[in-house]
Amino acid sequence: MTPEETLELLSQIALVDDRVVKVDHIEQRAQVTMWAVVLRDVPLQFAGEAVGRHYAESAWPIMPKDIAARWRDQVRDRLGRSTGTFEPTDHPHLDPDDVGGYVAALRAHRGAVAGGDAEPVGLRELMPAVGDRLGGGRVAELVPANDEFREVREQQYPRRERPAVAVELAVHCPVCGSSPGRPCRLQHNGRQMKGTHPSRRDVWEAQQMTEGAES
Ligand SMILES: [Zn+2]
Repeated sequence: MTPEETLELLSQIALVDDRVVKVDHIEQRAQVTMWAVVLRDVPLQFAGEAVGRHYAESAWPIMPKDIAARWRDQVRDRLGRSTGTFEPTDHPHLDPDDVGGYVAALRAHRGAVAGGDAEPVGLRELMPAVGDRLGGGRVAELVPANDEFREVREQQYPRRERPAVAVELAVHCPVCGSSPGRPCRLQHNGRQMKGTHPSRRDVWEAQQMTEGAES
């Protein structure tokens, strides 16, 4: 965030909380400088959303460290979800034997993921794409769950004890393409579904298992 963007953020905050922004001009200039330093790595749009989340949860005036902490969590979360690889087709010019080039591209990708410019490469992207039979595009369907997967899933989530809330809404749906937090939609008419596509649940569960295995 540039100092100009910091100024914009502070003027947005002033609209919702008049306790934050300094009234005195000299103090205000110092405040902008200080916020801009703390939030140097944070994109303006993310900061705006973080402000909204802060006031949804707290009655305290927001401090730049609150936004920075949310940004650090997001970076950690994004890097945690990234498998630390990318698809070779993203870098057609890259010689597979060029180790230096590969490392540089990987580092750039991790930086982009951390900064929010690239989506983490998750399980879905690593699954074989079968979009061709659906008329092209990159609609990746998960490979059928094998017995080992089902066994682990039953251990972790016995059917009758599964949470009633659709936790799989937290992930992107591989079937209809709904973003995290958005309901699934029927593909032929785009209408909102009551439930979710089963593959979305599989993606969510696979993610839980991956996270469990790493920690
Ligand atoms: Zn769906």
